[in-house]
Amino acid sequence: MSDTKLSYREAIKLNYRSITVWQKFCPGLFLSILLSSGFEALSPYVTIWLSARIIGELAGRRNPQELLRLVILQLASAAILALAGGMVNRWKNYKQHSSARIFDKIYMEKMFEMDYADIDRQYVFDLYSQIRQNDLASCWGLRFTVLHFERFATAALQCLGGIGMTVSLFLSPIPKGGSFTFLNHPLCVVMIVTLMLMAAVLSSVCSNQSSRYWIRYAPNTRLGNRFFRFYGMITEYRKRMEDFRIYSQHENVYSIYMKRNLQFTSDSEIGKWAKGPMGLWAALSEGISVLLTGMACLFVCLKFLAGAFGIDSVTQYISAINRLFQGISEFLRYLAPLYANGEFLKTSFEFLDLPNNMYQGSLTTEKRSDRQYEIEFRDVSFRYPGSDQYVLRHVNLKFKVGSRLAVVGMNGSGKTTFIKLLCRLYDPCEGQILLNGINIRKYQYNNYVNLFSVVFQDFQLFALPLGENVAGAADYDHEYAEKCLKQAGFTDRLPSMPDDLDTYLYKEMKETGVNVSGGEAQKIAIARALYKDAPFIILDEPTAALDPVTEMEIYSKFNDIAGDKTAVYISHRLSSCKFCDEIAVFHEGAIVQKGTHEELVSNENGKYYELWHAQAQYYVTDKA
Ligand code: ADP
Repeated sequence: MSDTKLSYREAIKLNYRSITVWQKFCPGLFLSILLSSGFEALSPYVTIWLSARIIGELAGRRNPQELLRLVILQLASAAILALAGGMVNRWKNYKQHSSARIFDKIYMEKMFEMDYADIDRQYVFDLYSQIRQNDLASCWGLRFTVLHFERFATAALQCLGGIGMTVSLFLSPIPKGGSFTFLNHPLCVVMIVTLMLMAAVLSSVCSNQSSRYWIRYAPNTRLGNRFFRFYGMITEYRKRMEDFRIYSQHENVYSIYMKRNLQFTSDSEIGKWAKGPMGLWAALSEGISVLLTGMACLFVCLKFLAGAFGIDSVTQYISAINRLFQGISEFLRYLAPLYANGEFLKTSFEFLDLPNNMYQGSLTTEKRSDRQYEIEFRDVSFRYPGSDQYVLRHVNLKFKVGSRLAVVGMNGSGKTTFIKLLCRLYDPCEGQILLNGINIRKYQYNNYVNLFSVVFQDFQLFALPLGENVAGAADYDHEYAEKCLKQAGFTDRLPSMPDDLDTYLYKEMKETGVNVSGGEAQKIAIARALYKDAPFIILDEPTAALDPVTEMEIYSKFNDIAGDKTAVYISHRLSSCKFCDEIAVFHEGAIVQKGTHEELVSNENGKYYELWHAQAQYYVTDKA
């Protein structure tokens, strides 16, 4: 959070903006809350008014017909209000439940759409974790607006209803010649109202003083939540279980969770405050509130005794005043959090307002049926955001559609970074990348990205049915998905999948899900790349998952299945790529050699020759 204090105006603006965000993502949410609050706040006044009339009739004329009419009216109104209120409440609950998912969607959408380079920035990561933690601590931020609006609107409407029902208390005069006629004097009325308002304000000031201790305690609250989120739920991380057993970590976890997670115990600071000043402020607030109600009751009784109104109005005023004061104190109590939430909203919008610099291009790449695309890296240099070390230096490379390009080099030489630039996950810091002679920044981002199918080194599949994994969608062409799987070499495994394409991968979403091996997962990822049917297909070195023989098998098969697509292969195993039309050798962020396998391996002074011979011992069957 920023150090500069937020003005009230800014806090109101931020809260208003939060409402407009919700309006956009969840239309009808605030209307449903407002209506539901209206029913909650105003229905009791209908009951109060009718009850007062019944008491008045009982104490006065006792007309059975009038009594019957009033009782029926009371019952009917109670039934109608309960029914209508219930319906509105149901609608509101439905909207609020959806809002919980929509809250996640708002941030997911931002994470999916922000410039990929921003995801790497520590500043962005910190902002995002702050937002999540604030939300977890007390729903501070966007979600707070929804919860708070309901309380705030209910309190405001409760006040309005109360004012409406008690205004005649001050306006009904005591008949001339009676006692307490001084209460009729306008100054006296103003004094009493002011006194009551002051007491109401004082009561909520005391209540706020008490709540402030929670704000002071916020860092510890967050820490407590972190303990709960990480250690309290640690047994849900299945992958940690192996380490747990081998290193007997349970003792360590118990000890951390039980001995260090002491933020909410009675001996904690907040526990001590609760027994001391925090409790005293809360008690004072309650005391003033009771005194206030007593004062109001006294005023009503005096006016009644002096003959200003009948017993029916006494019932009405006393009940309405109680509700009015309750409304006022809640209204005032909710003002402080409204302001406090401004700070949290500022962080939320700082994150949501991060600009998308990559989305500025307007040209379309038009999926050419002839797939005539030419890519050129022109003097491209790059360093990762936040780093001052160049990982690519003056890269120049041209490759044409339909060709097979291999990118080889040692680990850390910049191969994957080269691909990330090609796919516009990052933009070059210097130089440019051209598609058919035009800087790729000038193309519409999504349009350009759609030209590529990439099987990244650390690709991820979903705990979803196999077919949906391949198609990347719930609705898909089954025949085509199956064809892609077969092309990717999944033919032998497919018949043993219990529900064919509907077989769930992994067990997270379904117990009968199938755990696939690294090599099988790789084939599914390749099938996914084929299903996309993009003109460029890129295979990043699958070393983590595959042994050299399987890698070789996948690479050589991939050459066939890539067909007329432009294929780029990345590997630090040279033998996997020797069939390519062109091989670019990366070394320390630069392309140090280019050519065919035969050309490169015959140059004894080149890096390729050195790498090839260093690796040859592992591939004794390979002949250069
Ligand atoms: P290769 O694919 O050849 O193994 P990479 O392109 O993955 O190499 O990495 C090249 C260099 O860039 C390495 O020194 C690596 O540590 C660094 N690097 C990779 N990713 C990032 C990142 N997100 N932030 C900072 N440095 C990175």
